[in-house]
Amino acid sequence: MTAQNPETLYPTALTVEDFKHNLAAVRQKIEAACQQAGRDPASVQLLPVSKTVNEARIRLAYEAGCHFLGENKVQEAYGKWQAMADLPDLQWAIIGHLQTNKAKFVAKFATQFQALDSLRLAQALERRLQEEGRSLDVFVQVNTSGEASKYGLPPEEVAAFLKALPAFNCLKVKGFMTLACLSPDLERVRGCFQLLRQLRDRLQQDAPADVHLKELSMGMSGDYGIAIEEGATVVRVGQAIFGARALPDSYYWPGSN
Ligand SMILES: *Cc1c(COP(=O)(O)O)cnc(C)c1O
Repeated sequence: MTAQNPETLYPTALTVEDFKHNLAAVRQKIEAACQQAGRDPASVQLLPVSKTVNEARIRLAYEAGCHFLGENKVQEAYGKWQAMADLPDLQWAIIGHLQTNKAKFVAKFATQFQALDSLRLAQALERRLQEEGRSLDVFVQVNTSGEASKYGLPPEEVAAFLKALPAFNCLKVKGFMTLACLSPDLERVRGCFQLLRQLRDRLQQDAPADVHLKELSMGMSGDYGIAIEEGATVVRVGQAIFGARALPDSYYWPGSN
């Protein structure tokens, strides 16, 4: 990603004070990016991403104000949800690829699912949500980088996909999510974000009645400033809040470095 060592770039937060400090720094950067883009900072939601972070540190982050957390792997998130059931207002967003046979876990506890990318998965989620008597906010994941290794629908398939979604009563469509290419070339990264916004602007006009496309979930620790300039309404930030992860990104996204 960058030549900088992530350990020094993102020191590990170990106290509530550390978390408050990191959150304030991220919020300040969000405000600066909004100012740059002439946007209202209230139009950008910060979603802290707690994957690989243990329960003890998540509880500190919770105390510092993180009550809605993103996780990449559903079973890790499910375990954390069970372990922290004493925090009733702690909510979870699943932001990583989901196999249909794991839809039942998402249906049990998640508030939001940001990686919807197939009708089979929509069917599996709908069935499990009906069993649970729950509904789920969903984002359609779009592959804006053109990298075959990335999950998400190719942009040209999104319009037809959206037309099928009103059939799923338990899925509340909120918008799109993308992962930009992992490149040191920030103009290429920006291009991925622009593509998602343009797709949203174009499809919003003839989206089915119950399909809302307001939200654009894009941008992470290394690029959320650019994402906000390009219209992000949700930024998913892990390392800049929790500290550097030990595992490389390839562990989460096949094909990346
Ligand atoms: C891990 C992850 C993020 C956050 O990445 P950071 O570099 O920790 O900010 C964002 N989106 C997804 C899908 C992720 O898996």
